[in-house]
Amino acid sequence: MKNNCVFCAIAAGEIPCFKIYEDDLVLAYLDINPFSEGHALVIPKAHTTGLLDTSDETLAAVIARVKKVAGRIQKTLPCDGFNVLQNNGAAAGQTVPHLHFHVVPRRGDGAGEIAFANGKGDMDALKALAAKLAF
Ligand code: 5GP
Ligand code: ZN
Repeated sequence: MKNNCVFCAIAAGEIPCFKIYEDDLVLAYLDINPFSEGHALVIPKAHTTGLLDTSDETLAAVIARVKKVAGRIQKTLPCDGFNVLQNNGAAAGQTVPHLHFHVVPRRGDGAGEIAFANGKGDMDALKALAAKLAF
């Protein structure tokens, strides 16, 4: 399998997919384990693993395609809204190490929540953290 990567294999046509959009740069297809009807993945055809090892030019082009795909889904199915998700690293839930954007249609239909277990922030800690991270 190309790059030993399932999404490279899909991009190369070695593994089938339910394709919804393709151009020179990207491929978009339905996720085989959909969170909701129309849950799609948008991938660059060239292999990178995530946000940080992908060029700004490629990212800009891919996110423009994410917009096209999301617009198509929202218009066609339709849905009330959608989440765009992009996981980086196993610790963040990334299971396929080839850059991909999830487009997840939402319909307020009890399909479930994509939720973080947030707690109220400590304002002093947030202030210090922002100072540490600022650049
Ligand atoms: P991640 O957790 O890495 O952000 O998401 C990977 C996604 O790829 C999962 O939602 C999973 O269902 C999907 N996926 C994994 N293997 C395949 C496959 O062979 N075909 C398709 N269409 N989706 C896949
Ligand atoms: Zn790949």
